This record gives sequence, structure tokens and C-alpha cells, in this order.
Amino acid sequence: MNHATVAQEFTFDDMKKISRTKLGHTVPMELYRAVRLIGMYQGLPMKGKGTTVTIGRKIGESLPVHSLEELLDVFRELKIGDPQIVHEEEHKIHVAVKDCFCEGLPEMEGNMVCDLEGAIMEGAMNKIKNKRVFVKEIKCNVNGDDCCEYEIRF
Ligand SMILES: [Zn+2]
Repeated sequence: MNHATVAQEFTFDDMKKISRTKLGHTVPMELYRAVRLIGMYQGLPMKGKGTTVTIGRKIGESLPVHSLEELLDVFRELKIGDPQIVHEEEHKIHVAVKDCFCEGLPEMEGNMVCDLEGAIMEGAMNKIKNKRVFVKEIKCNVNGDDCCEYEIRF
């Protein structure tokens, strides 16, 4: 094999190369939830804070998007949720996400569990804007809010 063609790192494009024949392209929602909530949120120190930021930013940076609109389309494509810009100022945008993976879980007031998804947004926005962008989770279904919502600050 020619060494020049040996991949050293997975790209987001590689994630789409799925050739298993029997079980198809998707995994059940409960598996994603188990990884996110039982594995990361409950399994890691400090509810995974820090780790989720690192993971989310890396994933966000790998996404082939060049604008916020494209990023929101990818959120829908990947079924992370159905995002919508609900507030826009010069240095601040609020994105509400309907149909988040956490929709339907038991409410636990004081808990916001969708930080990874916000960090994905942050990583992608950092790359799109080519400067430091901050994304904060400000609402979550699990907290008892009407949707999951993020504040993006430039
Ligand atoms: Zn959520």
C-alpha cells in the first residue's frame, strides 16, 4: 500500500462512509442518550463539563459548514434537533432547538444536559467566524424549559 494514501485521522466526511449491510445507517435514540447522559453526564467528573466542551468543539470544527444557516441545516440533517434563530443582536444570537434528543426525558430542575450540542455549535462558529465565539446553554427541556436554547456571543 502507498503510505501517502494512508489516512492518519478521521474526517467528518469519513463518518459518512457506512458500508454495513444489515443494520443500516442509524442507531437508536436510546443509544445516543445513553452515551450522552449515562456515560458522559453522569459518568464523567463534574457532569462531563470540560470533556463535553473539548469533544463538542472538535466535532463542530470538523463539520463542513461555512455559515450559521448551513450549521443549522446540519443540526437538522444529523437530527441533533430543529434549530431556529429566535433573537438577533449585533454581538449576540439566540438559537432555540426544538425536538432535541432530551425531549421527553424526566424533568430534573436545575439540570441542563445539552452542553455537548452547544459546544458543537461553538466549534463550528469559531471556524466560520475565524474568531473566538462563545456558546452558552440557557434553556433545556430537562430543566423544565419549553425548549433547549443557546446564546451565541461574538
Ligand atoms: Zn436538549
